[in-house]
Amino acid sequence: AAAEGPPAPPSPSARADFDATVASLAQERALRRALAGDEFALFLQPIVRLATGQLAGFEALIRWHDPERGLVSPASFIPAAEANGLILAVTAWVIGAIGRIVPRVLEAGLRAPASVEPSLFVSFNVTAQDLARSDICGLVDAMLRRTGIAPGALKLEITESALMQDPAGAAAALARCRAAGLGIAVDDFGTGYSSLSHLSTLPITTLKVDRAFVRAMLAEPRDRRIVQTILRLADEIGVVAVAEGIEGRAEAEALAAMGCALGQGYHFGRPMPEADALAAAAAWNAEAWRCGLSRGADQD
Ligand code: C2E
Ligand code: MG
Ligand code: MG
Ligand code: MG
Repeated sequence: AAAEGPPAPPSPSARADFDATVASLAQERALRRALAGDEFALFLQPIVRLATGQLAGFEALIRWHDPERGLVSPASFIPAAEANGLILAVTAWVIGAIGRIVPRVLEAGLRAPASVEPSLFVSFNVTAQDLARSDICGLVDAMLRRTGIAPGALKLEITESALMQDPAGAAAALARCRAAGLGIAVDDFGTGYSSLSHLSTLPITTLKVDRAFVRAMLAEPRDRRIVQTILRLADEIGVVAVAEGIEGRAEAEALAAMGCALGQGYHFGRPMPEADALAAAAAWNAEAWRCGLSRGADQD
């Protein structure tokens, strides 16, 4: 029989597991507090028509100001919320905020100068779990009826890799949203290993070219050809292309010359609070981007 003695110290890996569990519980508690309180904000990043420089719409991006830790990136807390089951509540918060903000954005578009398209759109991000486990279409539909927002003014963004987790489940939910009139964008396209056969069964209206390709395309002929191929694919299947992560004028001009319809990136404007986005729409200068002027507030 084993001799009695002091308990063995936990192994380093058990210790690491314990620490990770404590950290994720703390994260979950903080997220619950954020949902109950007033710690989230929805920022808006401009999306521009590359041929003319006109403002075409915005992507809504969540921001979490944790009173203890400061600004927490969605790239870390969205995956955490997917892991701890809080993502549906986060998305419900986003849909509520869309209902408050979008009517003002659309109104700004109608009153804005010719440098702004009269029918702006706003896109927002959803996850695979939102499509599989919640009635996202019902939630959005109730919000549309409450606010009077036209469904065509909204786009759902879902990453290519999330779509591929459960293509059949996603297809059913997306078909309902599309039938209700919403646009459907595949986000981070080119990094998620989707098969083209799946793509053809999904009711997609927009492909967003992942910023990894945009960042590399000027230096790397291969990346440039990948961008060209994605643009041709978008054209062939009759959807609009958006290039993400445009940080410089050279990329903006190259993409415009390649026929990419829409672009988004720090070059045009960072994600910004609602008031700044409305002011940007009112004073949007379609020529300014050609001069390399950058706007926005989200310094990260
Ligand atoms: P995403 O949907 O692909 O959003 C684009 C991300 O790229 C945003 O990061 C944006 O700030 C950043 N970005 C835009 N232009 C540039 C640029 O020129 N250069 C660089 N380096 N970055 C640029 P953000 O806001 O930190 O969001 C990260 C990701 O978190 C998003 O990627 C999206 O997957 C997720 N996310 C953000 N908000 C939400 C939300 O409300 N719901 C859900 N489910 N996910 C969200
Ligand atoms: Mg997105
Ligand atoms: Mg993206
Ligand atoms: Mg992304």
